[in-house]
Amino acid sequence: MSDLTLKQEVMQTRRALGKSVVIPAHHYEMDEVVQMADFLGDSYKLAVDCAATDSQYIVFCGVMFMAEGAALLAKPYQKVLIPDMTAGCPMADMIDSIQAEKIYDRISKMCDRQIIPIVYMNSYADMKAFCGSREGTVCTSSNATKIVRHFLDQGKSVFFAPDYNLGINTANQLGLARDEVVTIRRDLSVELYDPDLEGYDHPKDGKKSRKTNSLKNSTLGDSALEESTLEESALKDATLLKKAKMFVWDGFCHVHKVFTVNDINSFRRQYGDPGSGDGIVEEQNVNESIAGDRNASDGIVGDPGSSGSAAGNSSVGGRQINVIVHPECHESVVEAADYSGSTSMIWNTVKAGKPGSIWAVGTEFRFVQRMADQFKDKTVVPLRKSVCHNMSKITLEKLGNTLKSVQDHISGSVQDHTSAEGRLLNQVTVSDEYKEDAKKALQLMIDIVEAGK
Ligand code: SF4
Repeated sequence: MSDLTLKQEVMQTRRALGKSVVIPAHHYEMDEVVQMADFLGDSYKLAVDCAATDSQYIVFCGVMFMAEGAALLAKPYQKVLIPDMTAGCPMADMIDSIQAEKIYDRISKMCDRQIIPIVYMNSYADMKAFCGSREGTVCTSSNATKIVRHFLDQGKSVFFAPDYNLGINTANQLGLARDEVVTIRRDLSVELYDPDLEGYDHPKDGKKSRKTNSLKNSTLGDSALEESTLEESALKDATLLKKAKMFVWDGFCHVHKVFTVNDINSFRRQYGDPGSGDGIVEEQNVNESIAGDRNASDGIVGDPGSSGSAAGNSSVGGRQINVIVHPECHESVVEAADYSGSTSMIWNTVKAGKPGSIWAVGTEFRFVQRMADQFKDKTVVPLRKSVCHNMSKITLEKLGNTLKSVQDHISGSVQDHTSAEGRLLNQVTVSDEYKEDAKKALQLMIDIVEAGK
């Protein structure tokens, strides 16, 4: 079948389904999929918009944790489907509630302060439930600083997972000293973060005075915990652990981890720019949601109800040559960039840039391409071509098959996922075991964010 025929067929099926179906799509999806979407957004916005829809079927074009988030917030009569059940997220896979519980219990015994677990939206329901069951919550890249600050202000510490770079960048935003931040490796060892151990180049030596007290890699095995005759170094380690404010899991997003300071330096050299390197923009300064940009010709629908302007932040777009990156990038990259923020913030900031300005963007390639297509009055280039291959698994053909399955379900020729045969294709559900606590964690995030407005 030709691409055109396929597109026409999928559009026809979609039209026939009318309001019974809604199709949300993430910004990192392919254009052929985005063009079929009813709304577009980042993971948080999609979850909120899905919760607001009354459609009986939500065909989610994103990765599994996002579809699961939609299923978590879905009304009892709604069914959530994903065109490819294997569209996962390696970062979300880097921690589960069993590992979290193990390390959380251990660090709680070692720390004088109450530890609140906070999980990034990019995680599965078991992790969200783990946090909800321990007075913890969820965060996104746009509100991580606000959420962590909320608990630190109460004299509590935070266990942050799974994205390490977001955790470290949040700690930097909050001005935490190095010896207040502890890394938890996936083998459950702990150490104070030392940027030099990470093998990254750094933009400006000495720009920030890092405390790099070496907490020797110490595995939190039972023997370590129960050891009563601690050596001097171990005593120092124990003291540091007692007063630590953030315990950060070392997960990562490979799509964002690849960007380097060298990429930024090369871009600046190419355009003859010395760089500013200190333009971290507080998310509050930029409209939180992506513009209601609508491309009437191809039917792309942006997020409704938002102005998308960066008004109020005079620095945004003030420069001719700019580097903007996602906070899942290494701190050295964030430090070397002019701006850093969530997907929504990146969109709004570039949009608000002055005509003729040049932007290098350190995030997923397709999203950067979409901005380049949308903001023709600027030059928008990828800092490096980095693609999320899990998002690529959602193809137009698979979307079409899922929509046909919905059609069959409505006509009664197939049943839902509980049926062994003739089932609704790729239905996403959340175990009852996790629902209540995961929702509690999500609700707490919303409450904290709304209270701070
Ligand atoms: S971009 Fe990174 S965090 Fe997002 S789905 Fe892909 S691998 Fe996961």
